[in-house]
Amino acid sequence: MISDRGRQRPSTSIQKVIVCECGAEILLIPDVKEMDRAIVYHAECHAGKETDPVKAKALFEQIQNYLVKQVLVVTSEEEFEKANSKRKEGF
Ligand SMILES: [Zn+2]
Repeated sequence: MISDRGRQRPSTSIQKVIVCECGAEILLIPDVKEMDRAIVYHAECHAGKETDPVKAKALFEQIQNYLVKQVLVVTSEEEFEKANSKRKEGF
C-alpha cells in the first residue's frame, strides 16, 4: 500500500492577513513597498474621519504603527514556522 504522507500541502494558497483595530483585514503582500502603501491607505481611511488635522495626524500615525506591528508579528510567526519545518526536514 502506498501512502501519500510525503506529499506537500499547497501552503502558498493560504493568504496571510493583518487585522486592524477596526476589524478590517489587510492582505499581507510579500512586496514591502506595496504593503507600506496598503498600510498608509488604510491609515488615511481612519484619519479621514477626523476633522481636526492634529488629531487626524495622530490617528494616522497610531494606525500606521499598529499595522506595521501586525506585519512584524505575522511575518515573524511565518519565519518561525519555516525554521521549524527546516529543522524537521533535517532530521
Ligand atoms: Zn482600520
